[in-house]
Amino acid sequence: SEALERHEFGAEVGRLLDLVVHALYSEREIFLRELVANAADAVDRRRFEALTTPALMPEGEARLRIVPDKAARTLTLSDPGIGMSKAELAQHLGTIARSGTLAFAKSLAEAPAAEKPSLIGQFGVGFYSAFMVAERVEVTSRRAGEEEAWVWASEGRGDYTLAPASRDAAGTDIVLHMKADAEEFLDPWRLQSIIRKWADHITIPITVARDGKDEPANEGTALWRKPKSEISEEGYAEFYRHVAHSFDKPWATLHWRAEGTVEFTALLFIPGMKPFQAVEGERESRVRLHVRRMFITDEAALLPPWLRFVHGVVDTEDLPLNVSREMLQATPALARIRKAVTNRVLSELKTRAKDAEAYAGFWENFGAILKEGIWEDAEHRQEVAGLLRFRSSAVEGWTSLAEYVSRMKPEQEAIHILAGDDAAALAKSPQLEGFRARGVEVLLLSDQLDAFWPERLDSFEGKPIRSITQGPVDLSKIPLEGEAGEAADLSALLPKLKEALAGDVTEVQATDRLVDSAVVLSAEAGGPDLQMQRLLRRAGR
Ligand code: ADP
Ligand code: MG
Repeated sequence: SEALERHEFGAEVGRLLDLVVHALYSEREIFLRELVANAADAVDRRRFEALTTPALMPEGEARLRIVPDKAARTLTLSDPGIGMSKAELAQHLGTIARSGTLAFAKSLAEAPAAEKPSLIGQFGVGFYSAFMVAERVEVTSRRAGEEEAWVWASEGRGDYTLAPASRDAAGTDIVLHMKADAEEFLDPWRLQSIIRKWADHITIPITVARDGKDEPANEGTALWRKPKSEISEEGYAEFYRHVAHSFDKPWATLHWRAEGTVEFTALLFIPGMKPFQAVEGERESRVRLHVRRMFITDEAALLPPWLRFVHGVVDTEDLPLNVSREMLQATPALARIRKAVTNRVLSELKTRAKDAEAYAGFWENFGAILKEGIWEDAEHRQEVAGLLRFRSSAVEGWTSLAEYVSRMKPEQEAIHILAGDDAAALAKSPQLEGFRARGVEVLLLSDQLDAFWPERLDSFEGKPIRSITQGPVDLSKIPLEGEAGEAADLSALLPKLKEALAGDVTEVQATDRLVDSAVVLSAEAGGPDLQMQRLLRRAGR
């Protein structure tokens, strides 16, 4: 047509396009997320402008329609958003004048080759990802409040064209002429599954045309963005089942908005049931990261591995939408979010631990995982220690380290522990005799990790933690509670026993650990305790 105007892309755009197509995303399907995000943004912006200019309010429901056409090999996305004027089309889709992208071009020039792909993710260049799957892109748009429409078109090489067009109402149609190797994205089922994966919680309804009918493709509600007062218990539970792939009810629901140095909304759940493979399965936290409602990844490790039983969503405005996975790890905002979320979960557990009965259920499901925090997280070690629960030689049910310390004998110096495979069996161990006779409590530990973490924790409230099967145990300062028997003189017997057992044991000593039994095995001070030795033997070492 005569009105067709041809424009060169800025030099930077050409370079950018090339980079985007070849290096922006590891998975091409991301183009759909970017275009859906733009459409949702455009609808949000139109609603925002309509607050002051009511005439701009879209008529009817604001819906994003996606129409694949296999015969024509096109994919069309139509949104009733704010739209773009001729100048805006040229500016937003034809230049990289926006501050972010200029900085991007600069960083790109300076970054070493290996870092370039991850740099790209930081900047708002999502629209160009359409060229990963399309050989030609046409954008027909009418700005809300304006009468005329324009069509922008490009093959993603050196230039684009602008021409007058017509559109009944304000909004934007993006027509992708798909590359021959991208026809998979014309399959409605494929499109639906991509949307479910990446954009399920975009707040505008999205439909995908299938057999001439528009089928809803997303849930359409970002539940976590609603005020608590508008969410029913069942609403929370349903969402929990969706994110946790679970059937039970959450034991705890944490829903809050953080404001300050870092802003985000979090909706987290602690399951009411122990999933299969809770301990043996993968160790990474799968809490989902969203940026402005859009799903980004569930691999951002938003919580440490020892809180991996927590499920849910964190949604923030403080990250760019197309931040890459590599980039995520280095983003200071994410580090702040992690810290805040971890602390919040810990403080929730602390509060809930006050209700011993309710906490016992949690502990039996996830205690063994929480304990890993002591082993591997120096920063949170003491806090996690406060959340631990144990079986004990002195009390029924579960007890904490703090409760243990409060029951310690005045002369008692250490927190005594006995680790093994089974708490009930441990309770009958002769190792406990001397402690029982003096009324000294011993914690009975029977989780896999119990042979390991006490050494890392070392002490609690200033009291050293000691395995009773290791090293000399001095109970002489603590009086026997019952009648004291006559202490035998063993000075003649001990050397004989040592001689007889040479090669099997390194030392034979008198001990006040025993009352009724004659002998008991003990590990050397400084070496592994008996349970640890057992585990090492089992592991074939
Ligand atoms: P970003 O979304 O991060 O700004 P994009 O490359 O995805 O970067 O989009 C560039 C710009 O193009 C957007 O900021 C917006 O102004 C405009 N735009 C893209 N898609 C649409 C749309 N469907 N409706 C209105 N404006 C759009
Ligand atoms: Mg975008």
